[in-house]
Amino acid sequence: MSKINIIPIFIPHLGCPNDCVFCNQKKITGISTHVTGSEVESNILEYLDYFYDKSKDVEIAFYGGSFTALEIDKQIEFLSVAKKYKDSGKIDRIRLSTRPDFIDRDILKIQLDYGVDIIELGVQSMDDEVLNLSNRGHSSKDVIKAVESIRETKITLGLQQMIGLPGDTYEKSLYTTRELIKLKPDFVRIYPTLIVKDTELERMYYNNEYTPMSLESSVEDVSKFLMLYMKEDIKVIRIGLQNTESISTDGDVVGGPFHESYRELVEGLVLNEMLYNYLTKFIEIDNMTVFGSGRNISLLVGQKSKYKDLLKSKYNIKNLKYKQMKIDDTKLKLEINSEIYNIDLEYELGNLVDKMGI
Ligand code: SF4
Repeated sequence: MSKINIIPIFIPHLGCPNDCVFCNQKKITGISTHVTGSEVESNILEYLDYFYDKSKDVEIAFYGGSFTALEIDKQIEFLSVAKKYKDSGKIDRIRLSTRPDFIDRDILKIQLDYGVDIIELGVQSMDDEVLNLSNRGHSSKDVIKAVESIRETKITLGLQQMIGLPGDTYEKSLYTTRELIKLKPDFVRIYPTLIVKDTELERMYYNNEYTPMSLESSVEDVSKFLMLYMKEDIKVIRIGLQNTESISTDGDVVGGPFHESYRELVEGLVLNEMLYNYLTKFIEIDNMTVFGSGRNISLLVGQKSKYKDLLKSKYNIKNLKYKQMKIDDTKLKLEINSEIYNIDLEYELGNLVDKMGI
């Protein structure tokens, strides 16, 4: 459960001068009307009233568009409402997302004057060819400039990365991950590219100009990138688009690696990779019991026991059991052929990343 109460304000495609091939913000945010300052205010009041646990921090989040590409008056209209509630102590933070080419010192001054705490940049890729083919309308240099400007302020910085865009490859996404790590963001979000209805990508897909990643290969790639971020202590606060009425295979997703529990698939694979790496030193495993926190056990077993079955056959284990125990998420305990082994997952992660050479 989230440790904060979020008031989401969707500003679909408002202000964005661009048309990225994958984007239909009207679909992604599930809203197709334009927003006004008074709507922002009623939204805030509605959410403040609705939150069950009022002891949590409250964050207003402007999602969905390119906030700083809005006309200045519009930005101020929205931010004044948000600031009023921040000044009165009813909300704790203001967050927004935007494009890297709509950040400069003047824009940042407005954001600071109106109390913006967190800016998320839609980077998507640090490969200029991928950015061009996706019609992003900005370059990797714009990303670096925007990050440098934000870093001159006290604003928290988030970066969004997409994998599987047109022209993208594993190597290019790996390069993007390494470049994003160098930029030292406070957090990252990773999205596998989905084909949403009424987008240029949908047209490209039906004309055989674009092939989406399979679920399996996207989970494999993202698990490696997640390991790199984890090793560098960079928080990955989201993996995969949030499942909504429109973001589902019954809704507007026409192709691409969509899964309702995408993050669990990725995190489960990361944990299992660490376990495989640890187990390489054993020649024969007849009986094994894995002890871990409830969260880790469910990730390790996987949906429909997918990862459990894989582990069992990979090491030819006759009896494989999983047991929950009170233990930190960074530790696992194994009982193998009656011997006990303690695994420090942070140590194993470093070990695995070095071994994989990623
Ligand atoms: S910059 Fe963002 S809002 Fe604008 S078209 Fe691209 S993804 Fe959509």
